[in-house]
Amino acid sequence: MNDLHASSVRVDSARPVVSAGEITVSNVSKSYGTGLFNKDVVQDCSFTIERNKLTVMIGPSGCGKSTLIRLLAGFEKPTSGTIALNGKPITGPGRDRLVVFQESALFPWMTTYDNIMYGPRARGEDTQQARDMAKFLLEKVGLTAFREKYPPQLSGGMQRRAELARAMINNPDVMILDEPFRGLDAMSKELMWEYYAGLFEESRRTNSFVTTDIDEAIFLADRLLIMTNAPACVRATLEVDIPRPRKIADLFNNERANEVKIEALSLLHEEAMKSFSGGSKAAADFIEAYSKRDTKER
Ligand code: ADP
Ligand code: MG
Repeated sequence: MNDLHASSVRVDSARPVVSAGEITVSNVSKSYGTGLFNKDVVQDCSFTIERNKLTVMIGPSGCGKSTLIRLLAGFEKPTSGTIALNGKPITGPGRDRLVVFQESALFPWMTTYDNIMYGPRARGEDTQQARDMAKFLLEKVGLTAFREKYPPQLSGGMQRRAELARAMINNPDVMILDEPFRGLDAMSKELMWEYYAGLFEESRRTNSFVTTDIDEAIFLADRLLIMTNAPACVRATLEVDIPRPRKIADLFNNERANEVKIEALSLLHEEAMKSFSGGSKAAADFIEAYSKRDTKER
């Protein structure tokens, strides 16, 4: 008992000092290919991922969100424009920005604990402080009892929690998450929202989160960036000024949540319609046929 108490005190003192960063995106464009094959995926996009806030980007599928994330992470360079972290231009990937993708990045041959310790060990920092931090994070994400299990032995939700811990141990200035909860069942998803929002509220680390799910966006966001249809750009910014901690029921009962939802959905609907009509020949034919049918019926 005493031992447990002593260890939890030590674990708590491992809590890191979070230095939250701010990312500014200025007139960024990104295109792929040349000539006939040229495709503008991001066009003249400017926005800020504000310090200590959880900024959620929501936009239609295929609009260029992941491309923007790769630019923020420094995996790719913009065709024009600049991206800066705390005023310093981003020139490549860095430990100060950490990305959690939709696809699981856990190593299946490593235990939960070893997966979480991956970052510190890769840097040659298997120190007592890192081990205490791993223990602290295992507790935070509710996986202490699963520390010696391998990813295939964990549920989808547990794997996502292990991944959050694996990213957080590196104490990045900005956490970047690209649809991390996609593919989870509805109940696990809601649990993940609560876990993740709780982790954010504790550290107030700058977070940038991408989703296509409006409820997820509203439950999590301080600021909601509504993206245009491709090429991506910010169409509108909505402040989600709902007090924290939030409850899932707020999504249905809170007046402000409903206001934001209606506004966001109407903007997203406009963008989705643009993608539909401006998209493939098949989509255009469908719309034409549909409108003809409509006239006939009247
Ligand atoms: P989202 O994440 O919003 O669904 P993406 O950023 O993945 O959208 O993709 C946006 C568009 O950019 C898609 O039409 C995709 O085909 C195109 N795209 C993404 N990466 C490349 C690439 N490396 N080369 C050519 N086209 C790409
Ligand atoms: Mg994507």
